[in-house]
Amino acid sequence: MNPPIDLRSDTVTKPTPAMRAAMAAAEVGDDVFGDDPTVNALQARIAALLGKEAALFVPTGTQSNLCGLMAHCQRGDEYLVGQMAHTYRWEGGGAAVLGSIQPQPLPNQPDGSIALEDIAAAIKPDDAHFARTRLLALEDTWGGQVLPQAYIESATALARSKGLATHLDGARLFNAAVASGLPALEIARHFDSVSVCFSKGLGAPVGSALVGGREFIARAHRIRKMVGGGMRQAGVLAAAALHALDHHVERLAEDHAHARALAEGLQGLPGVTVTPPQSNILFVDLAPEKAPGVVDRLRAAGVLCTGLYRLRFVTHLDVSSRDIDRAIGVLRQHL
Ligand SMILES: *Cc1c(COP(=O)(O)O)cnc(C)c1O
Repeated sequence: MNPPIDLRSDTVTKPTPAMRAAMAAAEVGDDVFGDDPTVNALQARIAALLGKEAALFVPTGTQSNLCGLMAHCQRGDEYLVGQMAHTYRWEGGGAAVLGSIQPQPLPNQPDGSIALEDIAAAIKPDDAHFARTRLLALEDTWGGQVLPQAYIESATALARSKGLATHLDGARLFNAAVASGLPALEIARHFDSVSVCFSKGLGAPVGSALVGGREFIARAHRIRKMVGGGMRQAGVLAAAALHALDHHVERLAEDHAHARALAEGLQGLPGVTVTPPQSNILFVDLAPEKAPGVVDRLRAAGVLCTGLYRLRFVTHLDVSSRDIDRAIGVLRQHL
């Protein structure tokens, strides 16, 4: 029997032999002393790539967002965030629990944006009754969709005009860049800070980076230590991220093509609605009578996916075109 095709997430990739070789060969030092040359090289590289002064290497995207939110906001400040945003919904409420930052969740529009009117209406006046609205946080890609560039420009301009800072959860920023054909820097430059994951589509086993201005990153550095993210000889991990930046960015286009192929392969099935994917995430909605137990049935047939709100299939480095063909066969039989 073939091994299962794992489309649950792009976090399931295993480091390639070349990536492992780069990790094994990495020069390291104690990064809490600032001594790890590979971490320092990665931080310089990702900061330059995204057009910011400084960067901080952190274990996870969750910690990256948390350090970013806490570096922007004081206790009792408020941040505006999408109702379905990762920072708000999927990070254990860390901003509120650990940062005492009040989230003001706002509806995500179908394209992942937050309506400008909603942003404007949610910014509280300077009045002792209210938390101080301090930050707007957006996410790109959002559910695999690329935030429209014109939207990013107007939302961040609105935030700035109201004195708010801006943060981008760019866990899949490079997917957005490859899918839109815009350099990642063109997207990042509208934000004060950006978080990117190396452990998603880029295929590194561990690691994210927070980028921003020098003083902002200095504040985030202290917070990283506070939340336990000061790592020692982390260069073995940074080497994987550097390797990913060298070898796994352009190839994201293959993942996007695979997601489109999967979507096309599912056309015409009754009771199955396929949302055309913009990057590496495909959502499929089923008629109610088809939904119960479907994730388990697919698993038994050799295709792994998630189905918390809708069926979600994510393509990545460890999925080949043959896997996609096989997955289409299984899905056509079992959906
Ligand atoms: C995965 C993800 C994160 C968090 O990354 P972890 O490394 O899993 O903590 C943050 N934001 C988005 C949009 C993500 O997809």
